Amino acid sequence: MLGKLETVFSYTAHFILQSWPEKRPGILFLTDSGGRVINVMEMQVGQSWNPQGLDLMLHSVPCGHAWELTQEAFSTRGIVVRAWEDDHNLFGAIPLLENDGRVRAVIGIVTPESELDVDLLSYLRGLEPMIRMGYDAYIQHATSQIVMDLNLHDTTRELLISLTKQISDIIQKGYCSAVKLSESGLCIPQEIVTTQQVDEGQGEIAQVVARFGQAPVVPSILEENRIVSVPIICKSKPLYALILHLPPDEIDCTYDERDVAFLQEVGEKASNALWRAVLSDDLRREASKKDLLYQLMSKIQASIDVNDVLHEIVTSIPSLYPQLSVELFLTVEPNATTPVKQLSFQEAEPSTSTRAYLEGRLIVEKVEEEGQSTTVIAAPLLGKQGIYGVLQVTSDQRVSLSQHETDYIAILADTAGTAFENAQLYQQSRNLIRELRLINEMARQLNRSLDLKEILDFVTTMMGATFDAEFCAILSKSPGEDRFHVLSSSLPEFNGMTVHTNEKPFQEILQNKQALLLAQPGAGPLPFSLLPCCSLMGVPLIVEGEISGVLLVSDSRYHFFSFDDYKLLEIFGQHASLAMTNAVLHNEMERMVITDNLTGLFTRRHLNERVRASLEKDGYGSLILIDIDYFKNVNDTFGHQVGDEVLIQVSNLIRRSIRDSDIAARWGGEELAVYLPRVDKSTAHSVAERIRHCVEQETSPQVTISCGLAKWSKESDLDLSVESLFYQADIALYEAKNSGRNQVVLA
Ligand code: GH3
Ligand code: MG
Ligand code: MG
Repeated sequence: MLGKLETVFSYTAHFILQSWPEKRPGILFLTDSGGRVINVMEMQVGQSWNPQGLDLMLHSVPCGHAWELTQEAFSTRGIVVRAWEDDHNLFGAIPLLENDGRVRAVIGIVTPESELDVDLLSYLRGLEPMIRMGYDAYIQHATSQIVMDLNLHDTTRELLISLTKQISDIIQKGYCSAVKLSESGLCIPQEIVTTQQVDEGQGEIAQVVARFGQAPVVPSILEENRIVSVPIICKSKPLYALILHLPPDEIDCTYDERDVAFLQEVGEKASNALWRAVLSDDLRREASKKDLLYQLMSKIQASIDVNDVLHEIVTSIPSLYPQLSVELFLTVEPNATTPVKQLSFQEAEPSTSTRAYLEGRLIVEKVEEEGQSTTVIAAPLLGKQGIYGVLQVTSDQRVSLSQHETDYIAILADTAGTAFENAQLYQQSRNLIRELRLINEMARQLNRSLDLKEILDFVTTMMGATFDAEFCAILSKSPGEDRFHVLSSSLPEFNGMTVHTNEKPFQEILQNKQALLLAQPGAGPLPFSLLPCCSLMGVPLIVEGEISGVLLVSDSRYHFFSFDDYKLLEIFGQHASLAMTNAVLHNEMERMVITDNLTGLFTRRHLNERVRASLEKDGYGSLILIDIDYFKNVNDTFGHQVGDEVLIQVSNLIRRSIRDSDIAARWGGEELAVYLPRVDKSTAHSVAERIRHCVEQETSPQVTISCGLAKWSKESDLDLSVESLFYQADIALYEAKNSGRNQVVLA
């Protein structure tokens, strides 16, 4: 029996009181299935009759004859009329039976025997159709109340919450739930409204829904009358299924035909209201989706950062389509912060996304996987200059996508493609500008310097700042050598270390004379002995066509360098090569300018400059002028060439006899000079003697030399000029010649 007993009784009592003879007093009462009194009323308004000993207390079983009467009605399950000798009242009872024959309630009547002129038994028999009428009236009223209420709700969810609650209130057993149905009538377990207090997707209803599985929901009673299902269908479209289900602890309970009939009637009557709510929900969702789409598109179009664009797409789509799973596939290597996948071209059977990419068009496809069929929509990210990836949306078969939803996804992918392209172009041009600036700055700095050390330091610093890598270095190698030396590096402890040329990175650079980018794909460090690394770039420094060194950058992180980094390092290498060549050439030129070709000694001009500098900054110094004795004879006797060789021999002997800080120069044809800064006269004298002795001993053909020695000091020679120092030494030399040659004369 449906409905709350008191409520149903209020409908029935109305019919009973209408049919009761006028002016006859009486008491009408109702008990529940346990025999407890739940309602008592007088049968005449304001009747004066009040029987003694009739104890009808609400919420407790009656006493005395009333108790005996109801007990008999419970046990016989039929109409009972009784009178007792000790009492002048007549007692009648009608049991109200459930479909399974159990007594749900008993209606009792007590009236004074003397005043009743009708046969109570017949009267009670006649009451039965009245009770049914009352019950029917109640059901009609309750149903129309529910349907009227439905119109008050704006959203499907609110409507279903109200509907299931009201049904549950009337059925009074277990729980009532509403589950969304797909077009083919299958349950969509994600969308459930239930009267059971459970967390989302938990509880018995989830199991009940799972029970329906892949079969469309039809009106049915399952599990030995413990589950009832009724689909709500409007205009042949399944909307929701109403499901009644009993929890395991309600053991004695089952559902009966009356429950099913009621549920069916409510379902039918509610279908139109539900249809309208579903439609208006769709419209609302559509409007907000358009809004979200518009916002998303404006946002990504305004973005100039590739990662922002990707991030926006991946995070926004789930809010637009909560039931769909979204994946983004790209052809380029994705940034680690954005959840994107790489398109694969390896498989024998290309995936939907790969095909969408290759064919450059939207593909909608049904895919069968492990008995589950899903719909895959793959939309290419189309830019003006190419396709950048694929936006893939997957939905299980139950959620079907309308044509305009597919169109939205295509538009979204197009917008994303253009935005991605713009952001990428912007980033590329920004990178290009940064690179140009760097190169410009580098060229400017390098051109300013002809000092090799300065150049090496600058290039090392520049590499460190540009690539932000753990290690960068400049290595050099002389022709024919089989090792590279670290000339300069970001970690000074590596300076001076060597690496064999047969190590893989160097071997490749030497072989190809080309820049090298090594990235170890996740299999331990690279074969490089200097320090462990997983990413490495090397660029050869080519001076006059030969590899004279390598610019090297390395890092322990995988895939640390991009292709742009590699191109940039290549340009660094070209500039560094040029600057180093220039510095080397310049050093050579400088050496040539101050060096005498034949003897390898300094030139007279350089000697003059050095003497002048010494006169300014030192306290004292000595100058030895040397002239080979009878040199003309050597030429005349052995020829000019042998004369040259003798001149070279003498020069080498001089070089051997002096310190690095002394300056030996070719002063004239066969006249040589040695300036000894901060050397006093007696030391200089012994140096001159040593030279003279060596020349006499070691030259072949043998020659001797004459030396003139002059000294100076700040105290005794104020403002002494270079010329006057040379003049003094020349006088001394002249004297040495005149005094028999092969001797040293002091000025
Ligand atoms: P002394 O100095 O002892 O008076 O006699 P000397 O024969 O050396 O005379 P002097 O110094 O005047 O002559 C210099 C000669 O040295 C003249 C020239 O032929 C020769 N001479 C100068 N420069 C060179 C040179 O570069 N190579 C050769 N082979 N001879 C040179
Ligand atoms: Mg001479
Ligand atoms: Mg001479």
